[in-house]
Amino acid sequence: MRVQFAPKYISQPILAWYDANARIMPWRVSPSECAAGVRPDPYQIWLSEVMLQQTTVAMVKAYFTRFTQRWPLVQDLARAQDAEVMAEWAGLGYYARARNLLACARAVTQFYGGQFPANHAALLTLPGIGPYTAAAISAIAFNLPETVLDGNVERVMARLFAVTEPLPTAKPHLFALAESQTPQARAGDYAQALMDLGATVCKPRTPSCGICPLAVLCDARAQGIAADLPKKLVRAPKPTRTGSLWVARRKDGAWLLEERRPKGLLGGMLGWPGSDWDNVKAPPPFETNWQKAGVFRHTFTHFHADMEVLTAQVGQADPKRGAFVAHNLFQPDDLPTLMRKAYDLAILV
Ligand code: SF4
Repeated sequence: MRVQFAPKYISQPILAWYDANARIMPWRVSPSECAAGVRPDPYQIWLSEVMLQQTTVAMVKAYFTRFTQRWPLVQDLARAQDAEVMAEWAGLGYYARARNLLACARAVTQFYGGQFPANHAALLTLPGIGPYTAAAISAIAFNLPETVLDGNVERVMARLFAVTEPLPTAKPHLFALAESQTPQARAGDYAQALMDLGATVCKPRTPSCGICPLAVLCDARAQGIAADLPKKLVRAPKPTRTGSLWVARRKDGAWLLEERRPKGLLGGMLGWPGSDWDNVKAPPPFETNWQKAGVFRHTFTHFHADMEVLTAQVGQADPKRGAFVAHNLFQPDDLPTLMRKAYDLAILV
């Protein structure tokens, strides 16, 4: 794609701003430490980037701290049991990413001696690492001049160059604009500076142009259209599907649980017997006097799932699926969010 733009030379003002305003993150090396030769830990940068694709910085900080306390090195994570990692990941969603996280840790340990390769092309061959994550690790961990384009940077570029084409169609254009600005020096600081500017100054609804180091260079500010950019294509509403879950507890406190099939949404996770979100009500795992606890909604990327929860307390039962797990071996926090919502509803009955 041919990109029309006038050069902006943003790296100098944004790096000066970053030197004074960099956010503190548990995985981050500050600009002054970086200038003194300290380098970030590629394992920590990779872990934080995978987590940041899921949720907010505030939530990632807690997950990141737990993961790195439990598995300080990529080799430690590679040796972890799948179920342990899935349980720590619970609440972050997109369990396919947790499975890829483990596969990547094992590949780095097996094929690279526990050292992430300092090379964009080699990073791209690892499980779960796509172009964005490879660029972020290359720039932040290894200071390579790769172009890192997350949602924050897209917004800054769209405003800086007053790009009115809507997302996601505008992505290649925005990437080319971002690439045109990427400096050869301080690539890691520059990538993080743009992310910080987008998160704290060039915010989605209310850009703080008055304190922005790029204000004099910004076309959207000059045209008075900053808050309207980036434009987005109107999305079709999400469909709603239904399903059912059977939450049974024995009088000795044991819960009836099962490990889900390895493939698909919530694959390999702990859960309650029931149906998927396929508009079919699953038969109960055993016959008893089941009570309706209620219906809750869980929203996946492409659809809403309205799940009916049925609950029962029994003396003895011989379930056709799942197995009773003693109450001292079960932690509700080990459940993925959808299953946790069913638990929260069932214990109210
Ligand atoms: Fe964003 Fe305003 Fe700065 Fe432009 S001047 S980059 S719109 S905060």
